[in-house]
Amino acid sequence: MPVAGCNALYRNTVKSALQPRVRPATLRTLTTTGRNGYDRAPQGGSPFDLAVPSVPPPNPHAREIAILGGGLTGLATAYHLSREIPKAKITIYEKNARLGGWIDSETVKVDNGDVLFEWGPRTIRCAPGIMSSAMLEMVCDLDLTNDLVAISKEAAAARNRYLYYPDRLVKMPAPLKGASFSDFIESVRTVLTEPLFERFWNIFKEPWTPLRDENVKDEPLGDFISRRFGKEVANNIASAFFHGVYAGDIYQLSARTLATMMWHLESRNRDEKSSILLEVLADRLNRRGIARADLVRHRQRFAAALNSPDAYLRRVPNPEIFDRLSVYTFKHGLAQLTSALEQRLRQTKNITILESTAVEEVTFEKAQDRLRVGSKSSPAASVYDYVVSTLGPRSMQQFFLSNNPRNPAGTTDERVNAACQHSNKSVNVMVINLYYDNPDLLSIRGFGYLIPRSVPVEQNPERALGVLFGSETSGRFDSVNRRSSPPFYIQREWDKEKGQPVVRPQQEPYDGPDIVHQDTAPGTKLTVMMGGHWWNEWADSDLPTEKQAIEMAQTLLKRHLNIDERPTVAKARLNRNCIPQPPVGYAQDMATIHDALLSKYKGRLKVLGPWWQGAPGMNDCVRVARETAWAIRDHKDELTGLQNYMRESFVVTHLPTRQATIEYTE
Ligand SMILES: Cc1cc2nc3c(=O)[nH]c(=O)nc-3n(C[C@H](O)[C@H](O)[C@H](O)COP(=O)(O)OP(=O)(O)OC[C@H]3O[C@@H](n4cnc5c(N)ncnc54)[C@H](O)[C@@H]3O)c2cc1C
Repeated sequence: MPVAGCNALYRNTVKSALQPRVRPATLRTLTTTGRNGYDRAPQGGSPFDLAVPSVPPPNPHAREIAILGGGLTGLATAYHLSREIPKAKITIYEKNARLGGWIDSETVKVDNGDVLFEWGPRTIRCAPGIMSSAMLEMVCDLDLTNDLVAISKEAAAARNRYLYYPDRLVKMPAPLKGASFSDFIESVRTVLTEPLFERFWNIFKEPWTPLRDENVKDEPLGDFISRRFGKEVANNIASAFFHGVYAGDIYQLSARTLATMMWHLESRNRDEKSSILLEVLADRLNRRGIARADLVRHRQRFAAALNSPDAYLRRVPNPEIFDRLSVYTFKHGLAQLTSALEQRLRQTKNITILESTAVEEVTFEKAQDRLRVGSKSSPAASVYDYVVSTLGPRSMQQFFLSNNPRNPAGTTDERVNAACQHSNKSVNVMVINLYYDNPDLLSIRGFGYLIPRSVPVEQNPERALGVLFGSETSGRFDSVNRRSSPPFYIQREWDKEKGQPVVRPQQEPYDGPDIVHQDTAPGTKLTVMMGGHWWNEWADSDLPTEKQAIEMAQTLLKRHLNIDERPTVAKARLNRNCIPQPPVGYAQDMATIHDALLSKYKGRLKVLGPWWQGAPGMNDCVRVARETAWAIRDHKDELTGLQNYMRESFVVTHLPTRQATIEYTE
């Protein structure tokens, strides 16, 4: 087995940095020349698929479209479709009486005012660039910026994140950017003295670690991290992070799907016997940037849309303000976003929302060359040109197996069946929301803390995943001061003479409060998350009741934070099967389902959302919603939503020449 070493270090990082850039130019990358990239058209073009495309006329076959699921992904898809193809008739099918899916915010009255509890997601990450741009644009267009609870990167919630190990809270080293000298010294001390960072220095042995065998197509994330960086890093640090995002077990989740870039970097330069750290270092020294090709494609398509005569984006987020934010939410919680979306969709001609209507089958009607959506609650089945499903693999299996004799999709092979079954993994999470009258309940400030899998069981018999300090992200502390901030969005309009969009100089004046916050009551809000993968094997009868969960949360808070006080309000809710868990082999499952969608539904049944993208964040939901609307608008029936699993690709951009190459993972 090849082992990386000093020779590879020298070759990768030093020698090649001194070489002229001689890589073949396979495409020109997007070059936005405007200050924010918003006010000028992109330059250049190329015959390759990552070039900035021109926007084709809307697909004439997309007349009627069904969307399955009225959560964030379904609503955002309807929003984008209605903008992209305004003449199309869109029907949303939602099983429940309420729209919004897992997004659910509740306002609770207490003696001194109101407190907002979140039962699902609570904040949206303000990630750089294309990862969060679709969400931010939607927020601006829905006119929600006045109610934005904006947590800056300097806030305690952004800078102070804790892990609990083995019996105390440990503050994670502060990000170097913006850190004071004392922060830096404290971080070094933490890494040198805390057992949490035991054997942390093993990560520097990574370049000498054997590369994975060429035949290995996926492995558990925990094994991957242990193999490259050491078991302690996997169990103490990575496991806590994946408890926070997936409530998942790193030894069951797919490394290929959840650590895509690292997985690629490990084997990218096999002949050079390289390593992940060396590849990162080499890229830095050689002024190369690497990104997932699907994200680059999204950016290119977005540039085309942004600068097309339709100029459908009249308001774009102002990077000057959003670059300063860490996370955000809204005055009335995240449900304000789905409510605003719902309201906009209800006002839009051509959109029908069918609540309390569960979809049971989707069949391909060969005679009409259309898709039929069947639901027991709505006896009149309807036919559509396209169906977009945000439902999981279990529903997809049901659709494939649908036994309508007229339906060629009614038969399915065992491989597709197995892929649907295998990828249909999820966890239950118990959410416990607590409110205390005492505003000074906590002696520390920050986002909250996560609990790694390596914590001794006597320190976490409740099997909690983490505790969030809700008051810190509710706007009471460190929110961006609105009156002294630049405007949250830039107003654009299309200049017919110049044939390009221009920035409108006047902004609408802001007349809201200085600080926007969620709670009017001054106390402290905490949320305990419990269960997740720890409860995978538990029978329903073994799961705690909501009352028991509240007791367990209080015992945990006494042990970890020394909180003796009784909460004024305590509520719990068990979210069943709420977070999909991409298992080892997930990418292969998705490739199999992609083929089946093409052959059984001619690519006109498209899938999207956390079940299919392997990423549970709300930003991802909205980004892929926009991507799906483009796929239908541009008549790209070869895109099912799973096409990226067929051949994972990455774009390497060489900064001095602005040329790029594409790398593929086999
Ligand atoms: C506890 C928790 C905390 C989270 N925290 C965060 C966070 O802080 N930040 C973040 O970015 N993300 C977070 N997430 C993830 C985020 O909430 C989800 O990614 C997002 O809400 C998924 O939206 P969706 O529309 O794809 O799915 P869902 O919300 O599951 O919506 C799917 C909809 O389909 C409906 N449906 C199901 N079956 C049928 C059927 N047969 N017919 C018709 N309709 C059907 C359901 O009723 C539901 O309304 C969190 C998730 C959970 C559960």
